[in-house]
Formats: sequence, C-alpha cells, structure tokens
Amino acid sequence: GETDRTVPAILRARAAQDPDGTAIWCEDRRTSFRELDVRSDRIATALLADGLRAGDRVAYIGKNSERFLEMLHGCAKAGTVLISVNYRLTAPEIHFILADSRSRLLAVDADLLPVGTEAIADTGVDHVRVMDGGDDPRDFDTWRDAQPAGPVDVTPCLEDPVLQIYTSGTTGFPKGAVIPHRSFAGMLDLAHNVPQQPLRWYEGESILCPMPNFHVGGSLFPFWVTMQGATIVLMPNFTPDAVLDAVETHSAAAFVAVPEMLQMILANPRTETLDYSRLRYIYYGAAPMSPELLKRCMDTFGCRFTQTYGMTEHSVIGLLGPDDHGPDLAERMLSVGQRTPGMETEILDPAGDVVPPGVVGEICVKSPAMMLGYWRSDGTVDPSVDANGWFHTGDAGCYDESGYLFLKDRIKDMLISGGENVYPAEVERVLGEHPAVLEAAVVGLTDPQWGEVPKAYVVRRSDVDAADLQAFARERLARYKVPKEIEFIDALPRTASGKVRRRDLRERARQEQGVTA
Ligand code: ATP
Ligand code: MG
Repeated sequence: GETDRTVPAILRARAAQDPDGTAIWCEDRRTSFRELDVRSDRIATALLADGLRAGDRVAYIGKNSERFLEMLHGCAKAGTVLISVNYRLTAPEIHFILADSRSRLLAVDADLLPVGTEAIADTGVDHVRVMDGGDDPRDFDTWRDAQPAGPVDVTPCLEDPVLQIYTSGTTGFPKGAVIPHRSFAGMLDLAHNVPQQPLRWYEGESILCPMPNFHVGGSLFPFWVTMQGATIVLMPNFTPDAVLDAVETHSAAAFVAVPEMLQMILANPRTETLDYSRLRYIYYGAAPMSPELLKRCMDTFGCRFTQTYGMTEHSVIGLLGPDDHGPDLAERMLSVGQRTPGMETEILDPAGDVVPPGVVGEICVKSPAMMLGYWRSDGTVDPSVDANGWFHTGDAGCYDESGYLFLKDRIKDMLISGGENVYPAEVERVLGEHPAVLEAAVVGLTDPQWGEVPKAYVVRRSDVDAADLQAFARERLARYKVPKEIEFIDALPRTASGKVRRRDLRERARQEQGVTA
C-alpha cells in the first residue's frame, strides 16, 4: 500500500533484510542498518518529547556524518521536516533561514555552536542539540540515547514533507524546496528503471560521497545508496586526499563528484598510482563538465561514467549513461543525457508550447518525483508549476532527434548581443579548449551599440594574452559570441556545490565598467 513506500517503511524493510550490514562509514565509525533504524526511532521519540509535531521544522548545521542520516530518518518518522543549512554561511544568513523556515529545534556541530547560537537569537528555535557536545547538557547523543527504542505512533503519508533543502543560490537567493516521501520513493524506482541501471547499487558495495549534506548530492544521494542496501562512505570535508584515501580503504565501487572536485582530484599525484580495480563508476553533474576534463578522467580512472542533470527541486531529469561515454562519442558527451523513465521532460517556447527537436527553449518537467513546492515564509508551499502542470527549470536547452538533451545555459545568464542569443556556457567551453586556459566564466557587459557584449574572466594555466584568446575564439565562434573583453583572475567565485557564481562576476564587471566609463 501507500505507506509501504514512505521513508520510515523503506528503512524498516532494509533493516529487517540486512540488520548487520553496513549502512554508513564516516571516518572510523560504522553504522549498521539496524543501528540506523533504532537510533532514528529514538530521535523521533526525542523530537516528540521536545514538543515538536508533524510539519514542524528541524534545522541541521553540521559536516557530513552518520548523524545527518539519523536525523533525516528520525524526522521522517516523527513527521517533522529536516532543514539542512549550509554550515559555511554567516550567522545572519543562518538566522534568516531559521526564522524564515520557523525552525523549532537546531542540531549543530560543537565547533559550529558559536555561529549557531548567534543565529538563533529572536527565532522560534527553543531547543538546541549539540553534536559531539561532550559534557554539554545539550549533547545530541545523550538526548537521543535517553529515549527508549521502538517506533513512535506516527504514520506519515507519501505527500508529507520530509526534507526542506535550499537551492544552491547560483542565480539569486536560495529557495527552500520541500521534498515529500514520494520523491524519495521515486528515486528508488529510478534506480531500477533507468536502462543499464547505472544507479543500481548492491549490498557489500561502498559508494563515496564528498558532497555536503545541504546539497541534494549530499542528502538524497546517501539515502538512495543505503536504501538499496549498499554502504555510503561520508566525508566530512572534501579534499582530494580524503577521496583517494577512501577509494583505497573502502575499495570503493563508485563515487560522486562535481567537475571542480574531479579537477582537484586529477591534480593530485597519487591518482597515478592508486588501485582503482574495484571502482565501477564515477558520477558527475551539478555544473557543466568540460570535454577535456572528462577525457582526462576517463583516461585516468578507466571506470564507467554517468552524468546526471538535475536540481534540488527534482532529483534527476537527464542521465548520460555509461554506454554514452567513450572515445568515439565526443559529440554525445556534450549532452546531459536522455529522459529518465517515469517523467515527462519537454522543451517549451515562451508561449508554453512544446518545440520540436533541434529548437532551443526552456527545459520543463512533470514528474512524480517533483518537490511539493518552494517554502514561503508564511508557512505555506508554492507549488511552482504553470497552469499546465509544468515545472520550469530556468535552464535553456534542446533535444536532438535521438532524444539526447543539450543544455545551453541558465536562461537568466543568457545575454543578447545585437539581437542574437549568447549562452555563456558555450563561450566558456570554447575558451576552455585553449591549452593555456584552466577555466573561464562569461558575463554580459552593457554596450551602447549591441545592447550587451560578452566579457570573459579567465583563470590561466600558463601564459597567454587576451588578443591570442580572442583570435582562438574567433576561429571557433560566431563573431557576436567572441568576448570583447578578457580579464585574467586567480580563481572563479563558486557556490558550495561547485557552481560558478556568475552574478558575482556580473556585479564586478558592472562596477569596473562604471569606473572606466
Ligand atoms: P538557484 O536555483 O538557487 O539559482 P542552482 O539552480 O544552482 O541555484 P541547484 O538546484 O543546486 O541550484 O542546481 C541545479 C542547476 O544546476 C540546474 O538547473 C542546472 O543549471 C545545473 N546543473 C545540474 N546538473 C548539471 C549538469 N549535469 N551539467 C550542467 N549543469 C547542471
Ligand atoms: Mg535553480
């Protein structure tokens, strides 16, 4: 029935099937499926004992650890909603999220307690639990373990919210996407339904996750892995060495990473000597992958690759599977893959009509795994679908005749130069093909003649000047796409999930333009 597919029911079944199997490794700590089930029961009891009720928000500020998954399951069992907050935010930013979400309880890492304490002032948070709190009377483990084992008397349904997760804030202020039990169940279906099953993991396999828990990749992904019976290896901090150590120690079957992480891992000399024989897959996504970086990864790791295209609001929309990665598939590897089963994805024009293959428009989705909507500060949820039920992703793209999706860029980041659309991602990719360019970001400058013209910020690998790069671009791009200005910088500003913050660069360009004008 319906309730068999809620998060608590899924965990219960997993714990019954393989109680002593390893659900989580984090540093030197192992958590079995039974322990995850029992601890999350105790947490649910503790939340109710603290006076929280169904729909109440519980905030979490902490590095990756087993406690995050305990809390996710504990909240799901109690009917409360977990909000994972980016621990790199400042106290005022955290304060905003706590107040806006009307959070009532905060679980916080001991070393983040000062910022957490500052952030809760004048919010509705009336309970604080400190992870690794030692002698602190608010210690998290003490709070949890003081409760009896055994389930609470709450029966959630598939439409109830479990997790409220904030978008990366690449294009504006982060939005709180409210994710129901239904979306979690939908992910498990996806693992079985995608052709070639690249997202299917098995008991005894270890999958590494260096993505932070306040990003979909660090919250839903670990659920996805463990609830199929495999082990998730959580990394509190991403460093190339931590990933390489874990690959070795756990004979990892797979890991997930954003392109920026892969670039850093490849730069580590240890990658050349490590034993990858058990590594089946590397998953990548969240930001555009450069063909050059992908090729280097494929040469180095020799495993299979799968790209996911998705977003906080909705897990995986496009999937470029292992059979679409290969030395002869250069064109195809520029795609973000095919539709995933069970959902509708179409390209719509501004009038809301579906366009044929080859035509660029907005990528729109209808699917059973969709979020409930965005959290509004009045406590309601904005479903954010249009009159025909489409969720608009804000991404521009087109399908080819074979059903492969080619992502152009964010609609908000597109610039219009002399009436022609310029997608920064395309210009960045071309600049990235120059051997002296490590990475590039393109934004629009206002221009009296053309309306807007592209400007590139470039991080160099070796010496090159702006005129050379412009000449290089002119051979590969229509004239209106060639950056009129190129500025060299040391590093691109990025979000915690490795996305370039073009809006910061746009602001910088605007200021610089103001100074020179
Ligand atoms: P915000 O919505 O707050 O502006 P965000 O969209 O970056 O931030 P996320 O939900 O983390 O927040 O990211 C989803 C976006 O990431 C997608 O809309 C898309 O633009 C980009 N993205 C996801 N996967 C890929 C991919 N495989 N290749 C390129 N871009 C991707
Ligand atoms: Mg977004």
